[in-house]
Amino acid sequence: ETTRAREVVYQVFNNFKMLYPEFTFTIDDALRQEETVQIYRDHLEQILIIILDNAIKYSTQRKEIHLSIASNQQELELAVQDFGEGISQENLDKVFRRFYRVDKARARDKGGNGLGLSIVQKLLDSYKGTIVAESSLGQGTIFRISIPLVQKEEIDK
Ligand code: ATP
Repeated sequence: ETTRAREVVYQVFNNFKMLYPEFTFTIDDALRQEETVQIYRDHLEQILIIILDNAIKYSTQRKEIHLSIASNQQELELAVQDFGEGISQENLDKVFRRFYRVDKARARDKGGNGLGLSIVQKLLDSYKGTIVAESSLGQGTIFRISIPLVQKEEIDK
């Protein structure tokens, strides 16, 4: 299954813009062409929804979300940045574990169950993609995702 990346990214991005008018959304689009990624469309959608939904949930002060899409020879590179509460260094790796939430009492009233990022991680693993998080407390968080591109020769065949 292959998916046109830009199309899906903009679709999800525009839905979030519509749903959260109190947020400022920006996008930095450095794709040179219509890149096609090696992933089922619904799965890419789900990944973006979980990450953006978190960005919204954990940004109580500065309501800004920045997305970027780019590519190198092999991969699509997506980044979702927020300027919310951030994640401490010691918790940064743990957030990808099943049912892990940094602050259980606080997270409960945000309706999370700690599964979102573990689903994202599993999905990306199954497509040989990757996800990493960079964060600092009180400053915000960036999630960087890469997904293998469908190589040109494969499309032309
Ligand atoms: P859900 O299953 O609904 O996504 P959740 O947000 O609790 O619930 P995960 O998406 O797996 O679960 O995230 C795990 C934890 O990582 C969260 O509880 C939160 O503490 C932390 N986290 C995730 N994204 C962010 C973010 N953008 N900023 C700050 N903390 C985050």
